[in-house]
Amino acid sequence: MSTPVDHLSSLRTLTIDGAAVETADRFPVVNPATGEPFATAPAIAPAQLDSAVRAADAAFGSWRRDEDARRAALLAAADAVDAAAGDLAAILTAEQGKPLRDAATECFLVSLWLRYYAGLELPPEIVRDDEKGYAEVHRRPVGVVAAITPWNFPLTLAMWKIAPALRAGNTVVIKPSPFTPLATLALGETLRDVLPPGVLNVVSGPDPLGASLTTHPLVRKISFTGSTATGKKVAAAAADDLKRVTLELGGNDPAIVLPDAPIAEIADTLFWSAFINNGQTCLAAKRVYVHESRHDELVDALAAIARDVQVDEGTAEGAQLGPVNNAPQFERVTGLVRDAVDRGARVAAGGDRIDRPGYFFQPTILSGVSDGLAIVDEEQFGPALPVIPYQDLEDAIARANRTTYGLTASVWSADPERAAIVAAEIDAGQVTVNAHGSAVTPDLPFGGHKHSGIGVENGPWGLYGFTEIQVLAGPPRRR
Ligand code: NAD
Repeated sequence: MSTPVDHLSSLRTLTIDGAAVETADRFPVVNPATGEPFATAPAIAPAQLDSAVRAADAAFGSWRRDEDARRAALLAAADAVDAAAGDLAAILTAEQGKPLRDAATECFLVSLWLRYYAGLELPPEIVRDDEKGYAEVHRRPVGVVAAITPWNFPLTLAMWKIAPALRAGNTVVIKPSPFTPLATLALGETLRDVLPPGVLNVVSGPDPLGASLTTHPLVRKISFTGSTATGKKVAAAAADDLKRVTLELGGNDPAIVLPDAPIAEIADTLFWSAFINNGQTCLAAKRVYVHESRHDELVDALAAIARDVQVDEGTAEGAQLGPVNNAPQFERVTGLVRDAVDRGARVAAGGDRIDRPGYFFQPTILSGVSDGLAIVDEEQFGPALPVIPYQDLEDAIARANRTTYGLTASVWSADPERAAIVAAEIDAGQVTVNAHGSAVTPDLPFGGHKHSGIGVENGPWGLYGFTEIQVLAGPPRRR
């Protein structure tokens, strides 16, 4: 039976060993639509973190043994999430800022991922089985997984880790971002009576909690999503103990618009692939290279859409975008747009903060931009899109690749075959044609090249990251 999530305003608790755990200290959580704290979250003490990891370690022995029980538990978890989805979405909107409709989509994706992994078959690979003997390749669970998530998609990204990790037979301690701890804590409450004690533990607190979790000796695998700078620290922390790591990091994802692209047809899709979740999306288009012959037309089309977008608090009827999630991010986006304008970029739409409380920023289109500006060269992660003209396609591809990142990219053209030829030259984990970042489903691998990450999530490939290979071999089986 699932436990219904309490009212939005209730005090969320940690989930450790299947029980609610209170902490001596709590820390404030800000509603980005007001800029004011609206709730508090538990700040875990070191001894409590140790007990969470130990609970996960103690639960591992029996959880790894029964695959059918794990599948059944994931399905029950999906039902429980569906039943709690209204409350979870409300909590998510309050702390993250996104419109309720988008928060509901995140909850839908959580149960979609749980159901996908519950149904995934993982038979051993039989390499030989003959008169000389047999040899099979099995995937065994790693042990205790530390899952660390960012603030942009707190629930979806949590489930990209929890579902495959549990399906493979691991146990989990998850730590959400201190900007958005509540939805993940509520998820833990929702699943407290659905999963066996210790299988899923949810902890929260301000950093350095993340670092403390990554160095705990009983953690065998770290699955991290966040910035490249933090990802490097996670990899360094893991190295000492040779903990396994999967890193899903930042991106500075290019979209290349070829001269033959049908601008009127693609503008809406291109716009929303940059402004999804207010641009606070690792796989959003972050810079557009357009042939100079189509630059003005594209800028006009994108700017017209930007001016029409309804930006409002996430609970408002018809809101399409909410506020930026947090003050540092708001300051960063503001600074990058100002810097670009000071250095010659033209504002085609937006360009400034919205004059109201909270972290609201106008959807911004910058035109006539060149490489070398910070807004082009760095991951800006906000509601602003620079449009950069090019003359020569080879040069555009080289500029698209001239980044340390390599997460997603897109090519826009009336000729899909030509687009596919261009796509093959781009260094990114995913390149889509006439769409951007759209190939994200539970059965497809997602991950970055270069400094955008190590390993992938999702599909069987993502699950393999939560396993160790074991060869099981022996003499001929009796026939
Ligand atoms: P962040 O790196 O600041 O924080 C991510 C998480 O790491 C948080 O939970 C934080 O508390 C924790 N953390 C901080 N220091 C740590 C340490 N030393 N050891 C372990 N954990 C630590 O990132 P953010 O600002 O929360 O998120 C935005 C970033 O996430 C962007 O760069 C974005 O591109 C990236 N991101 C990537 C993907 C992907 O799949 N590639 C998806 C979403 C977001």
